[in-house]
Amino acid sequence: MLIAGNWKMFKGPEETREFCRRLRTADLGTADVVVSPPYVSLAEAVQGLAGTEIAVAAQSVHWAANGAFTGEISAQMLLELGVSGAIVGHSERRQYFGETDESVVRRTVAALERGLRVIACVGETETEREAGETEAVLKRQVGALADVVGAADGLVIAYEPVWAIGTGKTATPQMAQEAHEIVKMTLDLAVLYGGSVKAENARDLAAQPDVDGALVGGASLDVESFIAICREATAL
Ligand code: PEP
Repeated sequence: MLIAGNWKMFKGPEETREFCRRLRTADLGTADVVVSPPYVSLAEAVQGLAGTEIAVAAQSVHWAANGAFTGEISAQMLLELGVSGAIVGHSERRQYFGETDESVVRRTVAALERGLRVIACVGETETEREAGETEAVLKRQVGALADVVGAADGLVIAYEPVWAIGTGKTATPQMAQEAHEIVKMTLDLAVLYGGSVKAENARDLAAQPDVDGALVGGASLDVESFIAICREATAL
């Protein structure tokens, strides 16, 4: 069970240091744990979690090694810091920063080639779900990865219905299970669920046969809440 905390644009180096000091000694059940701080706090997280099994991932990664790409970061730079993975294609990047299925594939290919692990995010909007387009959207988004990358080592998919991210609305365990089955039909990989996961719902979501972990946003920012999610998700 992989539990990843996406910190989004929260926590500078000082808060990261405090968080990691607590996390490194916590009982996390049997969870494989990843934290994903903002770029400026990655080095602090790598140092703060050194000697533990907890991995550190960036929130995106560019496909080029170097170049005139203002504001971007390459896989080589992340590896130099000791970062072992990256989230790619989060819906906030698709919604606010023009990320497309094509750019998600490019980022994923480059990151995997250079040895980073990747959590690639997919998911439908509320309008798409209401229009009965969930399956088509997932097949398109996951299909783009399947066509170019396939079921590569180091790649994990996160199913994150956009309407459930940061809204307090969670997909029911049944909805998550159905969506994960669709994802796995297209690409046979581990699939994390994301969208308002918290300690109170983590166990029921994790109990679904095709839920292989969680990508947690808001509830991963408080260290005790994140620890509780790791334990709940692996309690069965
Ligand atoms: C996310 O940012 O990936 C996410 C799932 O956020 P939240 O848990 O806050 O809904």
